[in-house]
Amino acid sequence: MNIELRPEIEAISEEIIENRRHLHKYPELGLQEHETAKFISEKLNELGLEVSTGIGQTGVVALLKGGDGPCIGLRADMDALPIQETGDVAYKSVNDGVMHACGHDGHMVMLLGAAKVLSEKRDRIKGTVKFIFQPAEEGLGGARYMIEDGVLENPKVDEVYGIHLWNYQPFGTVGVQPGPVLAAADEFIITVKGKGGHGAAPHGTVDAVVVASYLVTTLQTIVSRNTNPLESTALTVGMIEGGYNYNIIADEVVLKGTARAYTEENRKMIHNRLHEICDGIGATYGARIEVNYSDGYPPTVNTEAESKKVFLATEKVVGKGVQPPYLTMGGEDMSYYLQKVPGCFFFVGSAPADREPMSVPHHCSHFDIEERALLVGSSIWVQLVEDVLT
Ligand SMILES: [Zn+2]
Ligand SMILES: [Zn+2]
Repeated sequence: MNIELRPEIEAISEEIIENRRHLHKYPELGLQEHETAKFISEKLNELGLEVSTGIGQTGVVALLKGGDGPCIGLRADMDALPIQETGDVAYKSVNDGVMHACGHDGHMVMLLGAAKVLSEKRDRIKGTVKFIFQPAEEGLGGARYMIEDGVLENPKVDEVYGIHLWNYQPFGTVGVQPGPVLAAADEFIITVKGKGGHGAAPHGTVDAVVVASYLVTTLQTIVSRNTNPLESTALTVGMIEGGYNYNIIADEVVLKGTARAYTEENRKMIHNRLHEICDGIGATYGARIEVNYSDGYPPTVNTEAESKKVFLATEKVVGKGVQPPYLTMGGEDMSYYLQKVPGCFFFVGSAPADREPMSVPHHCSHFDIEERALLVGSSIWVQLVEDVLT
């Protein structure tokens, strides 16, 4: 492993780690990041940056204005998850039932560290850096609120970048790749309406449990039979609920699930097939089937040129540690910025070095990171801005 941290980041490494431990201890859920926003805006104000608060409800945006040149947006998300922390760390969450179990505490401090270092190089920067601290990534789509509040305007953001700490990759590696890197994450609720009756006299009834069973198995064929095997999709029925007792034929069953795809084409295909299958099975068994399909985050798609810039900057920090990312079918609201502005979302390996690989996944109650990864991410931010704007 050949890591060359930026010396300016190394010099403030204790502060970066201390900040992360503070934010980890006081996590807040999406759109409730009031103390978090206060902490961040105070730090940014100390740097003499132009700071705006209350963007996208609880977001914070800071501008570092250098000379003439493009404006690049660097984004960190701020929210925690509704999980009770079970790990045994000194900086364990003191907010009951709330925990930074995805690494967003780390995202904020990597960006704060870079803001501190870059604010001292203002004279050399040809352009503007917009530091974007965004609320509510975990499900509520805080990025949309930020965009509605004009985060991509005044000045107009020409390129946008985001980091996710990534426990699926070992420390010292960084995943960078053009094209799709995270999936579209849609949700559906299917209500099967049959006709109830006595369990001993099924004739004349429409058994919603039987119909729902066919639905669950048939929906699996969207992935196994309708998707090109070289492309990735996922469909999960995560909840099924209905019925009254062992001898009663159920008149209604509700199914809830999620559909994931890396491309808009596959996303549409799943959506259409789901409707067709529900209509078909409803007709076959004489049930009424209602589908409520809601679009979640779009796929996160990186542009070629900006991915190259991240690749080159990252190579200067981790050498051969830069590689294609460990891909999952997770979703990210970074995708909303990338739908409007070219950019790259990349993955900084943060699996704790002293534990089994994959034993500390994101969103688990004992989640923790290799804190040295914070210095890697922060170094890449500084390097990237220097490469692009000096
Ligand atoms: Zn997450
Ligand atoms: Zn996350």
